[in-house]
Amino acid sequence: MSDYYEKVKVQLEQMKSSGEGAEKEEASTEPDEALVSSPPASVSPFQTVHSSCPTAARQNGSKTAVTGRNRSKSRSKLGKDERNSSYKQESEYALHETLVAANANVGKPHNRIDNERQMLQIQGTGKILQGKTETNGNTVIPNQRPKETKGFSHNKEDGNKVVKRRKPVTVDTSKAKTSMEALKLSIRQLKWKEFPVGRRSACDIYWHGVSFHDNDNIVSGQVNKFPGMIEMLRKINLSRAVRTMQELFPEEYNFYPRSWILPEEYQLFSTQIRLAKDSDASLKPTFIVKPDGGSQGDGIYLIRDPSDLRVIAGSQTKQSVVQEYIHKPLLIDKLKFDIRLYVLVKSLEPLEIYIAKEGLSRFCTEPYQEPSQKNLSHVFMHLTNYSLNIQSGNFVHSNSLSSGSKRTFSSVLYRLASKGVDIKKVWSDIISLVIKTVIALVPELKVYYQADIPPGKPGPSCFQILGFDILLMKNLKPVLLEVNANPSMRIEHEQEVSPGVFEYVPSPVDEEVKVGVIRDTLRLMDPAQRKPPEMSVEVGSPEQGPGEGGVLPSLCLKQVFPKYTKQFSYLRTVERITALFLRFLGVKGNMRLGPTGFRTFIRNCKLSNSNLSMASVDILYIDITRRWSGMLPESRESGMGLQAFVEAFFYLAQRRFKSLSLREQVVSLLEVCEAQLENQVGGGKRPSPLAVLTNHINPDPYRFSVGGLRLDRRLWTEKIHLDYQKAK
Ligand code: ADP
Repeated sequence: MSDYYEKVKVQLEQMKSSGEGAEKEEASTEPDEALVSSPPASVSPFQTVHSSCPTAARQNGSKTAVTGRNRSKSRSKLGKDERNSSYKQESEYALHETLVAANANVGKPHNRIDNERQMLQIQGTGKILQGKTETNGNTVIPNQRPKETKGFSHNKEDGNKVVKRRKPVTVDTSKAKTSMEALKLSIRQLKWKEFPVGRRSACDIYWHGVSFHDNDNIVSGQVNKFPGMIEMLRKINLSRAVRTMQELFPEEYNFYPRSWILPEEYQLFSTQIRLAKDSDASLKPTFIVKPDGGSQGDGIYLIRDPSDLRVIAGSQTKQSVVQEYIHKPLLIDKLKFDIRLYVLVKSLEPLEIYIAKEGLSRFCTEPYQEPSQKNLSHVFMHLTNYSLNIQSGNFVHSNSLSSGSKRTFSSVLYRLASKGVDIKKVWSDIISLVIKTVIALVPELKVYYQADIPPGKPGPSCFQILGFDILLMKNLKPVLLEVNANPSMRIEHEQEVSPGVFEYVPSPVDEEVKVGVIRDTLRLMDPAQRKPPEMSVEVGSPEQGPGEGGVLPSLCLKQVFPKYTKQFSYLRTVERITALFLRFLGVKGNMRLGPTGFRTFIRNCKLSNSNLSMASVDILYIDITRRWSGMLPESRESGMGLQAFVEAFFYLAQRRFKSLSLREQVVSLLEVCEAQLENQVGGGKRPSPLAVLTNHINPDPYRFSVGGLRLDRRLWTEKIHLDYQKAK
């Protein structure tokens, strides 16, 4: 490694003298670049740029002492959702720098951080460092506004520029919970105005710790959570959403391990595994079982056969996902590790996605061996969760970003690059994975969104930071493990300084990564960015600059969508089906389509003919809706949800266009529907809300039994994972 660092330093000197700089970066950000074949340098995490060193701002910093009792009290106050998603990460990314290094000598790690980052930048981007050139091509000169932060209104009067200051952006932080510290620092750097106990009049931005509904009745501004995101990212729902995409685009979505939903797919799981074992006696697969609402590795275990599934009180298996275990992960220092990346969904319509250029890598603490009956229960070998591995005696607290049990992702990539790995390819595969995953989530999110914020009704717009957990396989292929709706944004970690007394001490690496993500998310959400140019005025004054150091660093978030629209837009087929669903949904706040709505859809799209009578349409509706309501027992609303509608749509498409592939069938039917609706005056009649309300499913057993339309989507998906298997 040290040789490599030397080489990089030499490169830096050479680049300085040859004047490589921002122009190259500009050239590399052309929107039409082919992402996978030739990933742009600009998407490399190595472009992580000089952040404004938030830790420095806290040098005299926070060290909050709490007793063990207080600590558990504050934990118990957290709601279930937060425990499941947000809180689960609270301690996970706390950097275990020693108390001495982090607190008493907080400046030192940052010098080191800066040094390491500089070298990484050079490798990834070939750019001049030392604060002169930023990765987005903006030249930053101290005390001068960076190009990307838009304008003051400069009025010339007697030759002097008069600077008109805009009102600071207001942020309601009353529900920020554990992200509060990072948020405060970000707001301070931006010179915005924080309202820690809320505000009677509206704020520009509402920062919630858990869900869209943390504050009720928000009618304007922006909220940092989407309605339904927590629900969509539960393990079962994520698996379902990805599976729908796998049915249409098996190759594109082979980054998600083969999964079965329990208990409903237990029979399917056990039959498929038995058949596979029968046909190949040498096959010794391993599976990982994850409870649906679980987090931090809680309740997770490995099995080698469906018969090993644990049952609850001797009866049913818990709601969970059982997944093929990736048994050949990439190892570093003989250890398994995973990657946490922060992703901003800036908007659903139009879809805008950003990825943070820096992330974290969490390491196991026991050398990895392929699973065997003997080591199946070795959690420190198989699970990368910080919360588990911290309990191991082998956990390495390190002051360095590139060693120890938690490291920066760029240090891992850097290490791989030094071994000759094509890290640009790795990074571009990761970006593809992220974009495809978000595309899989968007359809259902749109339904939630419309239910909470119907078009025409005053309401806020939404954005959200997600935490992607990714595993690299030995062949460097990234695999999606899960997505967290509320990744921890905590920038302190808890330390027991004497028995029963805990302190929160600053964690420089968390601060480094997370404050950048929050601050730059806020910058991207700045309401001034949305106003017409003449109204767009800037924060602060040129003399002071918006940040504490007088200038803001360039964004640590990189846009990947719509930047790569061309490569990925063909995947948005289910969104088109969703547009039809929403059109016929009718009632405000509704998420389920009634039978009349479904009939109207069939009629308006002219799908009924001699082969498909309206009677069989009704039967189809009843059959699919009934089966889905069995699969979603917790749902109180009756009717056809989006997933059921998509299934019905697939069925109709297969029936109408027999000889084509499923994808072609679906696209063909979409074209038929869209053309029909376009032809209709006013875009077709929507079912009257009253009609939808008064039409209930009539579970007529006779009609049900003559249907014969029972579907099994899993039959269509048999082929899906073959490529995935091959890749392994
Ligand atoms: P949790 O929400 O409880 O953390 P995860 O899905 O993240 O659940 O799984 C926990 C850990 O288990 C991951 O961090 C990873 O180390 C390991 N893991 C999860 N799924 C797989 C898989 N399919 N193959 C190999 N390891 C996995």
